[in-house]
Amino acid sequence: MEKKDYHKIFLTDGEFGELFGSEISRLVKILNDTARAVCPPCNGYCCKNIHCLLYSEKFSTCPIFDLRPRECRYHFCNDVFTRARLSKEELDAMMNPVEELVCGDRGEIARLFFLFPEFPLDEKGLESMGIKDAVEKIKKDFEEGILGEGEAFHKLRELCVNRD
Ligand code: SF4
Ligand code: SF4
Repeated sequence: MEKKDYHKIFLTDGEFGELFGSEISRLVKILNDTARAVCPPCNGYCCKNIHCLLYSEKFSTCPIFDLRPRECRYHFCNDVFTRARLSKEELDAMMNPVEELVCGDRGEIARLFFLFPEFPLDEKGLESMGIKDAVEKIKKDFEEGILGEGEAFHKLRELCVNRD
């Protein structure tokens, strides 16, 4: 069996499923379906709030949506949780890793969120990956109309893929 890569930052759906298991992946899919209806008018409050440098208010969506890290894949605000109407057991299943990380002996979960409490895509995170200036340049070019959104997304994704 292939070894799990706990230290990969940018994850595909398949890689997220391998790390977190099928039940969490199923619940995250339900929450994502709900988020599709809830998130657009909010325009990325949580992305802005966590100081993600890949976020721009002018982007129509996350530029690396299918490669976003586990912190983004596992985060949903209360509005999303409320509207998704998960059962008590399902909510508990989603909360278990978080509670174990904060209160428990960490163990497996510290491996799943190995950077906690750091967010890998803030200024410090991108600087340590050596892609901060390139990300900022692509965003600036997009915001000034030099790059279209598709082109900017493509370039940002390439930076992330080549980094990992
Ligand atoms: S998860 Fe919540 S805070 Fe984040 S973009 Fe969606 S609605 Fe906004
Ligand atoms: S990478 Fe994460 S925090 Fe950044 S824009 Fe995408 S979903 Fe938001």
